[in-house]
Amino acid sequence: SRRKLVVGNWKMNGMREHLDEVEAIGDLAAAHPAVEVGLCLPATLIMAGSEKRGAAFIGAQNCHMDMSGAYTGSLSAEMLAEAGATWVITGHSERREARGETNADIAAKALAAKAAGLKVILCVGESLDVRDAGDAEAVVSAQLLASLPEGAAADWLAVAYEPIWAIGTGRIPTMEAVETMHAALRAALATRIGAEADKMRILYGGSMNGANAAELLAIADVDGGLIGGASLTAEKFAPIIEAAD
Ligand code: 13P
Repeated sequence: SRRKLVVGNWKMNGMREHLDEVEAIGDLAAAHPAVEVGLCLPATLIMAGSEKRGAAFIGAQNCHMDMSGAYTGSLSAEMLAEAGATWVITGHSERREARGETNADIAAKALAAKAAGLKVILCVGESLDVRDAGDAEAVVSAQLLASLPEGAAADWLAVAYEPIWAIGTGRIPTMEAVETMHAALRAALATRIGAEADKMRILYGGSMNGANAAELLAIADVDGGLIGGASLTAEKFAPIIEAAD
């Protein structure tokens, strides 16, 4: 059975004063050892956050696909690992859309992360237009297979399904729609990685909170969550971690 994975994505939020929240979330992780808990912090907080992480892991939100070079403003997977990150998000829709990242870029970043010893949360998800057109499962499955790195395995990679229209909006798909999508993604994974697909965790993300987490996390193929707004304080994050236990 798959250990639940509950990860906060702080996006462009978090200053030194918020390290108290990192510490409190680390304590929550220690209180719920059955759940794997992590926080993907802004890069500026990774080093200090690693010292306050308790039983939670610290992750980054993006990495470059090369290990070094003339890439002003970028950070390599190796640098993030040295700073204390053990995981990294790749392919978040906020980077696919606003930064023009392609599926091939994302697969390359995931491979760079693996080479640096980082575990990867690979994000996929459809726009509202795709959802309304009725072919979300086919589109997201294709996106997943196109951005899945070679050698993807459950011990270093998890998938996060994040419908773009559910991110930060307070809207979530119906439970039936989440169930259908997660089953479709696992089936798509099986076409590429066979039985390994049964071990791979598929997280749900998009307006997950203390009020809806229990229902979402009870769905058969939902193996955890990737949480934005509701991960910024221990008080808001706690009920989600509890729901996963
Ligand atoms: P919200 O939980 O704020 O909707 O963000 C979801 C997300 O994008 C996590 O990566």
